[in-house]
Order: sequence, then C-alpha cells, then structure tokens
Amino acid sequence: MTKPKIALIIGVTSQDGSYLSDFLLEKGYQVVGTIRRSTSTHQPNIEHLKGKIILEAADLVDQSSIDNLIIKYQPDEVYNLGSQSVPADSWSHPFYTAEVTAIGPLRVFESVRRFCPNAHVYQATSREIFGGVEGIEHANESTPIKANNPYGIAKAYAHMLVEVYRKSYDMFVCAGILFNHESPRRSLHFVTRKISMGVACIKLGIKNPPVNEIGEPLIDAEGKLHLGDLSAVRDWGYSKEYVEAMWLMLQQPTPKDYVIGTDTSYSIKDACKAAFDHVGLNWEDHVISDTKLLRPTEITAMKGDYSLAKKELGWQPRTFMKELMEIMVDSDIKLLKKENK
Ligand code: NAP
Repeated sequence: MTKPKIALIIGVTSQDGSYLSDFLLEKGYQVVGTIRRSTSTHQPNIEHLKGKIILEAADLVDQSSIDNLIIKYQPDEVYNLGSQSVPADSWSHPFYTAEVTAIGPLRVFESVRRFCPNAHVYQATSREIFGGVEGIEHANESTPIKANNPYGIAKAYAHMLVEVYRKSYDMFVCAGILFNHESPRRSLHFVTRKISMGVACIKLGIKNPPVNEIGEPLIDAEGKLHLGDLSAVRDWGYSKEYVEAMWLMLQQPTPKDYVIGTDTSYSIKDACKAAFDHVGLNWEDHVISDTKLLRPTEITAMKGDYSLAKKELGWQPRTFMKELMEIMVDSDIKLLKKENK
C-alpha cells in the first residue's frame, strides 16, 4: 500500500482550513492541522474533523513550534493559512498583524528551507495587496502591489518573499492571490457573515444576538443591523471552491502565483439586498451604516481576473454572490433554530 501524502495546514480552524481538510481527506491525504494554544476548546469549523485529522499546537509567532512540526511530519505539502486575517483590526493591532501575517510566513518558509526543502508550499496572499491601486478594474498576477492598510502591507511582504524563496532557493512555493471568499464558516468579524447572521436573527426574532467585532450586539434595540460603508465593493466567491485552487497550484510542474476570484463585483448594499430578499424582507428597513464600523481607508473596487488559473489549473468559480448569500442565510437560520430549540 502506498503511504498517504501528508499535508500540514497552518491555521486549520479557519474557514479555508476546514474546507481544505475536507477536500484533502477525500483525496486520501493524512492531514495535520495546527491550532493555537487557547483556553477555549470551542472550534466549530473543525468539530466534524476531530478524529479524522491530527491536531497539533503551533503559533506563527513561535519559530520552534513551526520547526518541530516540519521536522516531525516531513509534509509533502504545507498550506500557510494562519494570519491575523481581519483587515479592519490591523489598524488597532498593527504590530501583531505584522508579526503574524508578515513575519509568520517568513518563519514557515525558513523552516521548510532548513528542514523539508522539497515540500510544496502554499501561501495565502490577499487581494488587499492591491488595496490602493487606482484605475484598474480587473486585477491579475501582473497588477502592481500597492497596499493601503497594515494587513495588506503584511500580506504584501509575505507575497514578495514567495518569489524570493522560489528564485533564491529553488523552492516550490506558490502564492494564491485570493479575492474575498465567504461561507457559512466565515467568522462574524466579516461583513457577509454579519449580514447572513443579522438576517437570520431578525427573521427568527432572536432576542440575544451575537456581538459584532466591537463587542456590540449585532442587532440593536431597534432591530437594526449595524454595518460599515454600504457602498464598499468586493469580489465575493465561495471558500469551498477556492481551496480546490490552492491544492491545484501545488500539483503543477512549476510553482507560480495565481489570482483567484470571480471577476464580478458587488456592493455591500447588493449583498444586503440578496440576503434580505431571500427571506422576504426589505433590507432598507433593517440596515444602517454606523460610522464606528468604518475603516480609516477603504480599498479600491476591483475584480479578480482568474484567467490564468482557468487556463493552467482548469479552475473557475461556480458560485456567485447571490447564491452564496442565500447559502449563508439558510445555514445561519438552521444554526439559530438548533441553538434556540
Ligand atoms: P480565518 O477564518 O479568518 O482564520 C484565520 C486562521 O489563522 C485561524 O485558523 C486562526 O486560528 C489562525 N491564526 C491566527 N493567528 C495565528 C497565529 N499567531 N498562529 C497560527 N495561526 C494563527 O481565515 P480565512 O478567511 O479562512 O482565510 C485563510 C487565509 O487566507 C488567511 O491567511 C487570510 O488572511 C487569507 N485570505 C483570506 C481571504 C478571505 O476572503 N477569506 C482572502 C484572501 C486571503 P484561531 O482559530 O486560533 O484564531
């Protein structure tokens, strides 16, 4: 019997990490996923994976914790999904964001270079590296990097290292430049999940809604859902599909970076309309823009041109914003009904 391939997923509790685990288990991989040491054992995204994958404690701020796993498992593939991943929080936590999201990947690359140099490595770059680029509607792999928030700058640093490690050490390292991707496993710090959870709470008349990223109830006493800039525009795809692209990148004969997106874009208002329409409500009766939730700088509107991924990986998106919001609303209604039984 051939030995299964070993995949190390750094940040397995992420929405992408949990879908990637599902995908790799289907393909027969042995999956090792890192979790952070924490007093909480509440990890909803990976509850269904317990017993199927190996969980190990590691932290991107601790070189030895990464080294130990690379040495112990000698993984065939390493997926670095760990990150301080909330752009809005990167203003309040700029040092921590740099430490985890910029220097963290450097620790991973160094560890692989020293202890397992033949591993294929995936680095989770973000379209936020283009956040300050003006006048380009469709971003591709040649779009100039110009980040305009601490998160985007940290991701840009790690992204540029990918090429440096490829060229300097002949390592197989790829960056996926992913546009926003969402799912029912998205954290409540992100707008699409706030919308889907908000719709579910309003529809079901939930009296104790979860709190948002600033610790306030998602729905206020007047029954309103508070969001930031409603005119902000994003290219939204489905996380479950985007993890397939990550795997495909690591199966290619040569390492390369790829843009992954849907090449469509919608405003927050559009997403609200799709989600509230789905349950027969008018979004304008329920949503307000709250200045406390505005970012100091907004990224420019852009669509992810995935034509290289389509040509070379055979990957293309299948789920677009409206259907995605409907999937998320249905999932949150189901979740709240179960919790409030
Ligand atoms: P996510 O759900 O926000 O999860 C982030 C992950 O990083 C969690 O597993 C978290 O662990 C882990 N993490 C945080 N700090 C860490 C540390 N110091 N050491 C090790 N792990 C740490 O992420 P996602 O949305 O699935 O995205 C996955 C990756 O793609 C992230 O790097 C993100 O920045 C990037 N990305 C995401 C998008 C998107 O739209 N979703 C777009 C482009 C790029 P805990 O559970 O312990 O907090």
